[in-house]
Amino acid sequence: MLALGIDIGGTMIKTAIVDSNGTLSEKRLFPTSIDLKDQLLEIVREELAAHKVEAIGIGTAGRIDPVTGNVNLATSNLANWTGVPVKTLIQENTGVVTAVLNDSSAAAFGEWFCNYRRAETLVMITVGSGLGGGIVINGSPLLGKRGEAAEFGHIIIHRGGKPCNCGKEGCAEQYISMRLIHSLVAAAAGQEMDRATLIEQYLSGNPVVEEAVSTVTGDLAIVVDSVFLSLDPDLVVVGGGVCELGKRFLNSLREELSVLSRSSLYTEEDVVLSLSGNDAGIIGAAVYAMAGEASGHE
Ligand SMILES: [Zn+2]
Repeated sequence: MLALGIDIGGTMIKTAIVDSNGTLSEKRLFPTSIDLKDQLLEIVREELAAHKVEAIGIGTAGRIDPVTGNVNLATSNLANWTGVPVKTLIQENTGVVTAVLNDSSAAAFGEWFCNYRRAETLVMITVGSGLGGGIVINGSPLLGKRGEAAEFGHIIIHRGGKPCNCGKEGCAEQYISMRLIHSLVAAAAGQEMDRATLIEQYLSGNPVVEEAVSTVTGDLAIVVDSVFLSLDPDLVVVGGGVCELGKRFLNSLREELSVLSRSSLYTEEDVVLSLSGNDAGIIGAAVYAMAGEASGHE
């Protein structure tokens, strides 16, 4: 079976054809348009004209209704997206079974499917320009009642802290993101560093970059510890752009966790970095759609 997998983010839309083993081909990349609804339909039509697929899986930023596949709430970087009935829109226009879920849930499911299928419970925390998350339990993504499961980015970790774009103060996303690492480095070094330079400087031990990353890993460790104590998962996978900081970053996170986990049964070794990287979301969305098609529940 083949499915079209689509990953919709604030800046880019990624597509690929995915088979039932989670192997992907025909990857394409589009800058996200302001007219996302029309753009998505056009992309889907093009892909369907070129490839024969039996299902379409879409992972998108925002809170997605687990039953209807509507966007219940979109982040401010996806304009005109709140309220769009994505699943119905695509299904009715194409006649192809479509499944829609949150992009981080899709990534967690893709990561589980490709790399950790033995895990009963897997939690993924995505640290990119923001902070997202996904939970997979007994082979299914946990979508929750309202599409708000694993929204770790908006859990308050510092009461009365920095204002968040969601209207609250002290949300985890304001303390844990690649964006924050970049701005901490810029403030301390007096100049901006691009992504490649920042990674290179971190890996070569630049103390300014190291300090910025360790500020973020300190707060990330608090979230990871809370996740272990909430769900007792087999493992927590850290994904997103932060993975480019590699083993050194993982070690720094594990060092923080080794302190927090002293009074717990999990260990810092139970935190790992994503292996599927940027493809996890496309694969997860497509495989999720194929699973629905195969079981006839869609
Ligand atoms: Zn928030």
